[in-house]
Amino acid sequence: MAPTETRPEQAMMAVYEQPNQPFQLRLFALRAAAPGEVLVKVRMCTICRSDIHSYQGHRPNPVPGVLGHEIIGTIVELGEGVSADMRGAALQVGDRITWSEYFLASSDTYYDEQLDLPQKARGLKKYGHLAATEAPFHHGGFGQYCYILPRSWIVRLPDTLSDAAATPINCTAATAACVLERAGIKAGDRVVIQGLGLLGLYVAAMAKVCGAQRVIGLDPVAARREMALGFGCDVALDSVSVDAAAQIAQVREQCGPDGADVVIEVCGDPQVVPVGLQCLRNGGVYALAGVVNPQSMASLDLNLILRRLITLVGVHNYHPKHLARAVDFVNEQRERFDFDALVQGRYRLDQVDQAMRDAAEHRVVRAAIVPWLEDAQ
Ligand SMILES: [Zn+2]
Repeated sequence: MAPTETRPEQAMMAVYEQPNQPFQLRLFALRAAAPGEVLVKVRMCTICRSDIHSYQGHRPNPVPGVLGHEIIGTIVELGEGVSADMRGAALQVGDRITWSEYFLASSDTYYDEQLDLPQKARGLKKYGHLAATEAPFHHGGFGQYCYILPRSWIVRLPDTLSDAAATPINCTAATAACVLERAGIKAGDRVVIQGLGLLGLYVAAMAKVCGAQRVIGLDPVAARREMALGFGCDVALDSVSVDAAAQIAQVREQCGPDGADVVIEVCGDPQVVPVGLQCLRNGGVYALAGVVNPQSMASLDLNLILRRLITLVGVHNYHPKHLARAVDFVNEQRERFDFDALVQGRYRLDQVDQAMRDAAEHRVVRAAIVPWLEDAQ
């Protein structure tokens, strides 16, 4: 959009009234960017697994809902006081940017400043998780425009990154960067990843680039295991065709001399946790990053955790530093890993129902909503 292009008074969003009901295109008022805000034209929004869970009613999302938090956009207006991204790079109308999947709607100095956990601050709100009727309405990726609200963290995108490679960064790749840090993955580690969806692929790629000696992926879907071999996995094993004991034996065989240093759950199934714990060496780390739904129950032998000196860590959201780190990672490693191949379908706003179906049924790794697709062609 050229700086002189006029902002319309209204813009379109795809909203749903109740879980599993068809999306409807509705117009919502668009106003000038307020102080501390940035207004962007949405370039692309990829559908994350949590969008699907919200739409299916597994997560408590308000309705009418506007989904989509893996977003990139082109700056249309900079509100008063916004002139640079979180790293100090100047921002101008026309720049392509990504931003944190959350913003702090109110101040919480205890978590934000004293504990340096802004991702857990009270008053945190997430893009693509609010009712469409909550002003300023445009705060999800399934729409033509999005307001980046005050106390978000913005990163200007390098020109070398394609839209497809850049879009999933602000949820999935940034979460992966957080997993790497929380699990303490380092050179020489044997790393096991339970689940080879997009989060698992980024974790595998980052672990390999960190110097992991062996990266072992587990997943029931053959096509995902195949893809994982191009994203840092040395081996990808079938997690359903063998029983738990055989699976543990297979993994431990790959992780000499006595099991994995780190096991990471990114599949969302709590039933895999007991198996994962059995794959660890004494003193190993188990990281939970996929069981995002409430009531993810599992039966664990706590004595195993005690006796093997296991450290159990949780990962949810991420610190803003992980967003910047993830942008750099994807940009620096774009020749080594085919990040463009992760986005396999492009859909207009009036095709969101189809996009959600294709994503939910695993026909694509990532479905991308491109609100201005016709303009781009
Ligand atoms: Zn997400």
